[in-house]
Amino acid sequence: MTQPLWGIDLGGTKIEGVIVPSLDNPQPILRTRIDTEGYKGYEHIIGQIETLVQTMKKQSGLQPAHIGLGTPGVLDPILQTMKNCNSTALNGQPLKKDLEEKLGVPCVLANDANCFALAETHWGVVKEKAPEAKLVFGIIMGTGVGGGIVVNGQVWNGKHGIAGEWGHNFLDESGGPCYCGKTGCVETVLSGPGLQRYYKSITGSMLSLKDILAHALQGNDPAAVKTIDRLNHFFGKAVSVITNLLDPDVIVVGGGVGNIDSIYTAGMESLHKFIFNNRVDVQILKPSLGDSAGVFGAAALVA
Ligand SMILES: [Zn+2]
Repeated sequence: MTQPLWGIDLGGTKIEGVIVPSLDNPQPILRTRIDTEGYKGYEHIIGQIETLVQTMKKQSGLQPAHIGLGTPGVLDPILQTMKNCNSTALNGQPLKKDLEEKLGVPCVLANDANCFALAETHWGVVKEKAPEAKLVFGIIMGTGVGGGIVVNGQVWNGKHGIAGEWGHNFLDESGGPCYCGKTGCVETVLSGPGLQRYYKSITGSMLSLKDILAHALQGNDPAAVKTIDRLNHFFGKAVSVITNLLDPDVIVVGGGVGNIDSIYTAGMESLHKFIFNNRVDVQILKPSLGDSAGVFGAAALVA
């Protein structure tokens, strides 16, 4: 009998846990959550994860063989400390080692975009629409832009642990400075805040992404139309880099910006212009698991 899969999604506001029977059966045995309270510091976050795991053990009557953990940044494969986390209390900390000591169980860590790609591959839209896919690229375009690579059903982490971190590839100077220290990253152009900044640079006013989109669809706000046209143009240009380099079977696009329908039409036309091929066969799909992808992907890490 296979061991049930234990996954934990470490988010900025909540830590969520799930136990599922197997890759073939993702019907949760248990699903629960606890507040992260990250402002109380690193030790507190570790304590919250420990509390969550104790609760999961008590409620399920099970013991984990391994635990998969989705994190905001990545574990550096050489230094074995966390980096690139927007929950900055984690950066520089040996999270895997500390958790394994506290919990007494081997842990497998991956960043949230990797977990997203993995969950959509095994249990989400890829399973539904492209079950033969060997290479899946998952994109999260929201407040930030992240990416993850799944090869033959497994996360590909890479030498530095940054495989798929396409959000900090150079895209266009007009994006301006990025928090990572570089300029014109994909994230500065394609993230929600990037779109809002661009709109503000034309109009002087800060609108929500939802309002910019609504204005663009109504067609009576040229700056909003221009903002969405620019998104479509640069989405295609940025995705052409992924396609030329990895040529994935499927790209799944999550996050708030991933919900904008025009990237699947006008954005695809833009991709057509930029890829090194005379047609576009890669399937670009909307995810189907919603907010659940993070925690289920964490569980799939230990399959
Ligand atoms: Zn950057």
